[in-house]
Amino acid sequence: MPAGQQDLFPLDVPPWEMDAHSESTVAKIVFSEAPHGPYDYLIPDELFGQVVPGVRVHVPLGKGNREVLGYCIGVSTVKQSPDAFKPVLAVVDDQPLCTGRVLELIRWMSTYYLTPIGQIFETVIPAGVRSSAGVKQRLVMHPTAKAIDEQATGALTAKQQHVLKILVQAAGQALTTDELQKLAGCSTGPIQLLRDTGFIEARNERILERREYQPPQAAGPPLALSVDQRQALAHILEALNSRQQQTILLHGITGSGKTEVYMQAIHEVLSFGRQAIVLVPEISLTPQTRQRFLERFGQVAVLHSRMSPTERHFHWRRIVSGETPVVIGPRSAVFAPQPRLGLIVLDEEHDNSFKQDTLPRYHARDVALHRSMLEQIPLVLGSATPSLESWHRARLGQYRLATLPRRIHNRPLPVVNTVDLRLSSHKLGNGTISRPLYQAILETLAEKGQVILLLNRRGFSTAIQCPQCGHVVSCPDCDLPLTHHRDGHKAACHYCDYQIPTPPVCPKCSFDGIQYIGTGTQKLEVEVEHRFPRARIARMDSDTMRKPGSHERVLKQVRDGELDILLGTQMIAKGHDFPNVLLVGVINADTALHFPDFRASERTFQLITQVAGRTGRGEKAGRVLVQSFSPEHPAILAACKHDFIGFATDELAKREQYGYPPFGCMARVIMRGPDLAATESFAEVMVGRLKQAQKLAGIECRILGPAPPPLAKLRGNYRFHVMLQARTAEPLNRLLVRATSDLKPPKDILYVIDVDPQDTL
Ligand code: ADP
Ligand code: ZN
Repeated sequence: MPAGQQDLFPLDVPPWEMDAHSESTVAKIVFSEAPHGPYDYLIPDELFGQVVPGVRVHVPLGKGNREVLGYCIGVSTVKQSPDAFKPVLAVVDDQPLCTGRVLELIRWMSTYYLTPIGQIFETVIPAGVRSSAGVKQRLVMHPTAKAIDEQATGALTAKQQHVLKILVQAAGQALTTDELQKLAGCSTGPIQLLRDTGFIEARNERILERREYQPPQAAGPPLALSVDQRQALAHILEALNSRQQQTILLHGITGSGKTEVYMQAIHEVLSFGRQAIVLVPEISLTPQTRQRFLERFGQVAVLHSRMSPTERHFHWRRIVSGETPVVIGPRSAVFAPQPRLGLIVLDEEHDNSFKQDTLPRYHARDVALHRSMLEQIPLVLGSATPSLESWHRARLGQYRLATLPRRIHNRPLPVVNTVDLRLSSHKLGNGTISRPLYQAILETLAEKGQVILLLNRRGFSTAIQCPQCGHVVSCPDCDLPLTHHRDGHKAACHYCDYQIPTPPVCPKCSFDGIQYIGTGTQKLEVEVEHRFPRARIARMDSDTMRKPGSHERVLKQVRDGELDILLGTQMIAKGHDFPNVLLVGVINADTALHFPDFRASERTFQLITQVAGRTGRGEKAGRVLVQSFSPEHPAILAACKHDFIGFATDELAKREQYGYPPFGCMARVIMRGPDLAATESFAEVMVGRLKQAQKLAGIECRILGPAPPPLAKLRGNYRFHVMLQARTAEPLNRLLVRATSDLKPPKDILYVIDVDPQDTL
C-alpha cells in the first residue's frame, strides 16, 4: 500500500470489502458513580430509535456484567463489528429527560466544574423525576373522535355537553373519573352514559398523581411604566428581537420597580409562544412574589426546596409540555426543561445562594449565562447591588447596562446614618442597642411605624468563656466556639450537629462563673422585649424558621401590621416590600467585615444596602441607623450614601491590584480527612502535582498553599486548602485536569475542587 493511504484506511479492511456487520450503532453511556464512563454500548435492533440522547438505560458493567443504570449522551455509527461492544439491555425513559441544549449545558458544566457528566445529570434532573415519583396505574378518561363531532354531540343533554367540553379542554391531561366529576361539577351518571354511548373512552394508564391542580387564573394587566422602566424594558426587548444572546445588567435601586420590568419582558416572550425562567434567592420566594407573577400570568410554576418528589415530578412534566410558560425558582430552576425558552431573568444576581456549596459547586449565574448562549436568548441580571463580576463586565461592554436610578413614585431613599459604637456617650447599659438607636425605635413606635433590626448571628451568646483560665467551650469536631442557645439551655456548634447542655461551671478549671459573651439574635430578642415591653416582636432566623410556613407567617404578620419589631439575621434583609417599615437598625455592621475573605467589603456593602432598602417603601420616609466600631470603613460609608458606583470603583481598583476576580479567576482545592498528618501530606502531594503540571504545561498561575483554611477542622475532619489564581479560567481548568485526572487520594481522605469559590472558609 502506497504511503499516505494508510490514514485513509485505518482499519484492516478497506471500506468496499466491509459488510453490514462491521458497522455498529452505539450509544455513549455515562454513570453517576465511578467508573463514570463514557463507554460505548451497542444498540440492539429492537431498541433502535428508543436509545436517544437524554434517556436512561440499563447496561452491563464491569467483569461481572452487573446491570447498572446509565445516561445516554450520544448515539453514533462506528466502523466496528457489533461483537466489540456490550449491548444496551433496556431503555428506562420513553422520552429524553432533557432537551439537546440542556444536554449541551450538562457537558459544559462537566468540563467547567470538573465533575463527571453522570453526576451533573443527577443535579439537573430532579430525584422525583428520576424515580417517577407519584406515578400510579389509573383508569383515565379520553374523549373519542365522536366527542368533537358536532352532529353527534348536538343530541346530548347540556350537562353531558358540559362534561365533554371540560374533557376536550383538558387536552392531553389524563383525568380520572373523580377529577372529571370535580371539574365538571357532576355525578358519575353523565360520565358513565358518555362512556356507554362511545363519547368517552376509559383506558388504564400509568399517570402522574396530581398534587395540586390549579386551573389557570385570569391574567391581570401590566402597570404603566415609569420613564426609567420603559427605557430598561426597551433594552431587553431589543435584545429579544435580535434573536441573539445578550446579557442585560439591570441595576435598579431597591424599590425601583425591577420586577415590573421583568414581568413586561416576560409578557413579550410569551406573546410569541416562548417561555421564561425567573431565578430568585430561595428566601425571597415568598407568597407575595408568587402572587405577583400568578396575577399577571395566570399560570406559573413555582419551584422551591420544600417540594415533595411527586410535586417536583408533576411540575417537571408540565414544564416539559409547555403548559407553564413561566417558571420561578431558586438556583436549580436554571435547569427547568422549558421546550422553547425565550428569556432567563436572575433577580438579586449578587446573592450568594446562587452558588451551590455541595458538588457540583456550580453558580446559577454562570450556568444561566451559558444556557442563554446555547439557546441564543437574552439573560437579564437584576440587582440594587450587582456583583463586581457583573458590574465589571458591564463596564467592559460585554453586558448591556440598564439603570433604574429612582424609586417608584420618586420616593426618596432612606437617610442612612452610622452610630459610632466606640463613643461611650452612645452606650446604653450593657445592651447592644445604642442610645441613638433606642431613641429612634421609641419615636418610630410612637408614630405607629414598624422597625426591622438586623443582627447576622443566631443563638444567644456567640461564645462561652471562663474568665479565670480563659478556656473557650468549643466543638471537639470543628474546633470552633460553641454558641449558647437559650431555648433548651444548650451550647451548639453552628457547623455540625454537636450539642451539649450549657456547662454550669468551667469544664476545664471548674470555676463557678463562666461567662457568656457576644450577642446573637436570641439575646437581642430578650433585650428588645425588655426595652420595649409593649411592642409586638418576632424573631426570624434559621432557628425560628425551621417549620414549613413559619417564614411566610411572620412576613404576613409584618405586612398586616400585627408586628411592631421584626429582628433577625440576613433572612429579613431580602426583597420584602413592607410599606410601613420606617426604621431599620443594623446592630453590628462589622460582623461581615472581619471575615478573612476578599469579598468581605462587598458583602458588607450589599447587606447594609439591602436591609436599608426595606424601609421608606410607603408614603412615609424611612431611615436607617448602622451601628459600627469602624464607621469610617469605605464599604460602610458608601452604603450610607447609597453610592454603589463609588463603592464598586474603589473596590475594583483594589481587586485589580491583587488579581482577584473579576480581574482573574480562582479555584480552590479542599482536602479533608480524619487524620491530621495524613491529610496534610496528601495536601502536599496535591500541591506537588499542581506545580509539576504547571511546569510541564507552561501554565501561568499562582498556587498558594497548602494551608489550613479558617475552618481548619470541620465535623471531625482536618482540612487543608490550596488556592489557585490565574488571569482566565481556561489555564486553571487545564492545570486541574492534568494534576488530578489519575489521582487517587489515600483511604478516608477526600478532595473537592471549587471553581470560582464564593468563600474561602
Ligand atoms: P424592586 O424589585 O426594584 O425592589 P419592585 O418591583 O418590588 O421593586 O417595586 C416596588 C413597588 O413599586 C411594588 O409595590 C410595585 O408593585 C410598585 N411598582 C413597580 N412599578 C410600578 C409602576 N410602573 N407604577 C406603579 N407602581 C409600580
Ligand atoms: Zn462542630
